[in-house]
This record gives sequence, C-alpha cells and structure tokens, in this order.
Amino acid sequence: MAVNCVNELRERRTLGDEGLLELLESEDESVAEELFRNAREVSRAQFGRRIWLRALIEWSNVCRNDCLYCGIRRGNPAVQRYSLSQEDILQCCQQAYRLGLRTFVLQGGENPPAALLLAETVAEIRAAWPDCAITLSLGELPRETYALLRRSGADRYLLRHETANPAHYARLHPSGMTLESRLACLRSLRDLGYQTGMGMMVGSPYQTMQDLLADLRLIEAFRPEMIGIGPFIPQHDTPFRDCPAGNAGLTLRLLAILRLMHPHALIPSTTALSTLHPGGRMAGILAGANVIMPDFTPRDQREAYALYEGKTAAWTETAANLQDLYQELSACGYSVASSRGDYDESIHL
Ligand code: SF4
Repeated sequence: MAVNCVNELRERRTLGDEGLLELLESEDESVAEELFRNAREVSRAQFGRRIWLRALIEWSNVCRNDCLYCGIRRGNPAVQRYSLSQEDILQCCQQAYRLGLRTFVLQGGENPPAALLLAETVAEIRAAWPDCAITLSLGELPRETYALLRRSGADRYLLRHETANPAHYARLHPSGMTLESRLACLRSLRDLGYQTGMGMMVGSPYQTMQDLLADLRLIEAFRPEMIGIGPFIPQHDTPFRDCPAGNAGLTLRLLAILRLMHPHALIPSTTALSTLHPGGRMAGILAGANVIMPDFTPRDQREAYALYEGKTAAWTETAANLQDLYQELSACGYSVASSRGDYDESIHL
C-alpha cells in the first residue's frame, strides 16, 4: 500500500527499493497528495513557513563541454557567448542585496581558466558583503581551483550528478565525461569544506525508474546539504531537441520523497519546474522545497543562457516582480527568510 510507504518513509527517512518504486510509479493522485502533505509538514517542522531566496547570477555561458541536453553546449554555434565583468557581477550582487537577498549563486559553463580568474571576484564579494553566502556552480574543476575559490570566500558548491547510472550518464554526455569524475569532484568539494549540492534531471532521455531509484540511493549515501532536481526540458539546438520533456508530477513526487529522506536539506523549487508547469514554483514549495532562486542575470545576457526551451521567461529580478513572489508565497502562508539560510543554521531552527 503506497500510503503506508509514505508513513514509513517519513518515520524512518528511508524505504526499501520496492516501496520507493511504488511511490515513484504510482499515478494515484491521493498518494501524491499524501506524499506532498507529509513532505510539507516535515519541511515546516524544520524551517517554519520560511523560504530562502538565492540570487542567481549566470555569469558566463562559455563552456568546454558538450552535454547532449544543454543549450549552451560547446557545439552549439547559435549561442552568443558572454562573460560578465567583475563590475557587472558586483552590480548584480548589489542589486540583490538591496532587495534583501543574502546568498549569491554564481553559475556558469565549465571553463577552468575563467574559474581561476573568478576567484578574485569571489574575494571582492566576500569583502563587500561579509554577511552573505556565496554559492558557486561552475562544473568540474581541478581540486586546486576548488580550494582557491574556497579560500577566496565561497561557501557552497552545486554540482548536479544528473544520473547515478554510469551507462546512462554516458548516453547524456560526450566521451571523456564520466560519472566517476563527477563524484570525485563532489568528494573533493566536501573535503574542502564546501556545503555541497547534487541532484538529477528527471525524465532525461533513456532514463528508467531504476535509474531514479539509483539517484535516490546515491543522494542518500552522500547526504549533501543541498539537493537540486528539475525536469528535463528539450532545447531546440541540441541533439535531444525532439525528446519529450520530463514529467512535472514525477518531479514533484521525487522532490517530496527527497524531503522525507533529508529533512534538513536545502531544496530549491527549480526554474525548470516552473517553466514546465504553470504554478510549478509554488507546487514545489508545497511538495517540500524551501528555496527559490530568482534570476539576477542582466536581461541582455539572460537570453543567451538558454539551457533549455522557455527558460528565459521564467523569472525576473525587479523589485516589483519580487513583490509578486512575496505575495504568491504569502497567499500560501509562507514568507521570505531574511538570513543566509545556512545548512547548519537550518538544523538548529
Ligand atoms: S550542462 Fe553544464 S557542463 Fe554541460 S554543456 Fe551545459 S553548461 Fe556545460
């Protein structure tokens, strides 16, 4: 009985493979509702009815990789490449800070030489806003670069593993990229003292339920501080352009399962979910997410950071639009948290 599985999962924070598969595969709306209700309760018990905002700054779309699902892959000649200057990045931070955000997320394509140079910008941000957290999402880099960025003031690092099945990983990425290497990076990041985030794409081409189960087990074993999952959305300039998008309902069920397995984790309601499903942002919160990442990338560059179809329309950074977000949250009984929202802080709330 799927409902018993929900109760057991909440109680024990884990479940056997059979139970997890039953929850993943169930198309029964009442089971999904039960999952969401329990995940919401666990999230509220941990964080209250507070949601943490992270200012997303897509600082560069230059990438050395050719991931088959990604709109800014190296092999896409249609992308107009850009990298924000240090001044531009600091301005984005300034704007986000003025609007009350206390975490900056610098995200960019995988570009090791540029990541090295970015350390200086990270140090500037650290000096200018010592009360803020700095999160990086810059892909796989040499351990020394991770160490330099950490010393420069970065606190957190997001590196989605995308799939825990090495054979599936190989079908989503060009030869030369391996799951093993990604996991080694995640271990390095943790060793270096970063709060670490991982997660997978839901509904990527060739994915099976067994793959998703493996994702849940990998995350369970690693116990990251942050977990980011989102549905696959095809982008027109990629080899996967004709593949169907991932399923929003399954993404939400996974989000709720992850909340029940990881009560303390920082889990965003992702942009991709909101792109795929109108009202997806709140649906994610009501399925147990506790983080939202408004996009503070300057408008001109935002359009060039099209990881997947429809993404650019999803968020805006203006004060008026943040007000809309506050109202949307408030209509569901939530408010925005004013602190950095650290993992350690969250477990002591
Ligand atoms: S997913 Fe990341 S590493 Fe892969 S091509 Fe896109 S930006 Fe580069």
